[in-house]
Formats: sequence, structure tokens, C-alpha cells
Amino acid sequence: MPMTHGATKPDRRSPEAAEYRKLYSTARWKRLREFKLAQQPLCEWCLEQEIVEPATEVHHADGGHKGDVVKFFAGPFVSTCKPCHSRRGQREDLGLTVIRFGPDGWPL
Ligand SMILES: [Zn+2]
Repeated sequence: MPMTHGATKPDRRSPEAAEYRKLYSTARWKRLREFKLAQQPLCEWCLEQEIVEPATEVHHADGGHKGDVVKFFAGPFVSTCKPCHSRRGQREDLGLTVIRFGPDGWPL
């Protein structure tokens, strides 16, 4: 009998994931994204460290939308730069602990 270790993790590239990926190409999302970036044109995560960096990405804060269409369009959103989005955004989406550092170099 084969041994199984722990629970199987849900596949992050599930059909549902592919489904909500399409939401990113909707006109509604593009408008929302533009609006958010116009409202907060700087990376909010860089600002926490007193770094001024233009934002190019709009991240779903608060644990992400997880395929929830309502949450996808309702937010909350965070304006981020690309490096922040790929570093911290992915961790948040995976539900991992995000350690933030203040301007003094100590974790917040
Ligand atoms: Zn940033």
C-alpha cells in the first residue's frame, strides 16, 4: 500500500484559476486598475519602507480574491511596483507569512 503524506495541496493551476485569469482581461478590471493607479500612483509597499517607486500593478490585498468574482472587483486593492508584486504578492496569495521591514531595517 502506498504511503500518503499529509493532505494534498490544491492545484494552483486549476480550471477555476484559468477561469478567473480571464477576469484580468475584462474592460471592468482594466478600468478599476486604471482608477486605482490614478488614485495611488506609487507602490504602497515601497512607501512603507519610505521608498518612492511608481506602481505598475494592482494587487488584491486581504488574502486575494481566490477566484471570488465579487471580491475580484470589490477589492481591497494595493498599488504595487512589479518587483513587490512578484515577491510579496505571490507569498500573500499562497497564504504565507509576509515579513515586512520598516525604514530602519527591522521587521514591522
Ligand atoms: Zn514596490
